[in-house]
Amino acid sequence: MRVIGLTGGIGSGKSTVARLFEQQGVHTVDADTVAREVVEPGTPALAEIAGHFGADILTSAGALDRAALRKVVFDAPAEREWLEKLLHPVIREELMRQLWLTPSTPPPSGYSAGYVLLVSPLLLETDQHQLVERVIVIDVPVETQIERTMARDDNDRAQVERIIAAQIDREKRLQSADMVIDNSAPIESIVEQVQEVHRKLSELGASE
Ligand code: ADP
Repeated sequence: MRVIGLTGGIGSGKSTVARLFEQQGVHTVDADTVAREVVEPGTPALAEIAGHFGADILTSAGALDRAALRKVVFDAPAEREWLEKLLHPVIREELMRQLWLTPSTPPPSGYSAGYVLLVSPLLLETDQHQLVERVIVIDVPVETQIERTMARDDNDRAQVERIIAAQIDREKRLQSADMVIDNSAPIESIVEQVQEVHRKLSELGASE
């Protein structure tokens, strides 16, 4: 299965644009969602984390207490490394399963496109880019990113600016793009851009 990456900074419109691709019949897998799923109650990864850090990183309902875990690894590089070493392969495995890259999960009927989309804010920052053949970048001016994220998450400006500063910068992200979707315009024009990109990607599949 051909995998195409869809990335962009926080509030750039990844989820919004991914839904538009879904409407074109494209299967999308969200890396953020998968990263949460692999540590849901009952998962082997959560059991290992609780075994290592103790039950203090669990909520009373037995779910991962993310804030508590963040605190534990905040000033402890070795612990952070332990956690990443555990989670990265688990996340990658589950991404591959949901992208139908493992033989045990054939595509269900209903998805007609010749490619699947990996939607990830950290596509370029992590080894996830190794899974994709092409990169679509969703681009908006930083100010738009800030305004939309503040409106969506009820975060203050400083908080959003901190998150943006920790991500790859706009220029570098654009340099890695094979295709760019400009999401600064109203949503109707985004639909047209998505249809155009979808047409190109579908042709890519047909030409091989
Ligand atoms: P991301 O998944 O990249 O963090 P979202 O898709 O959640 O971004 O978009 C961030 C916010 O901006 C959401 O509230 C969304 O409804 C809004 N939004 C996305 N695209 C547009 C657009 N073209 N015009 C106006 N608002 C938009």
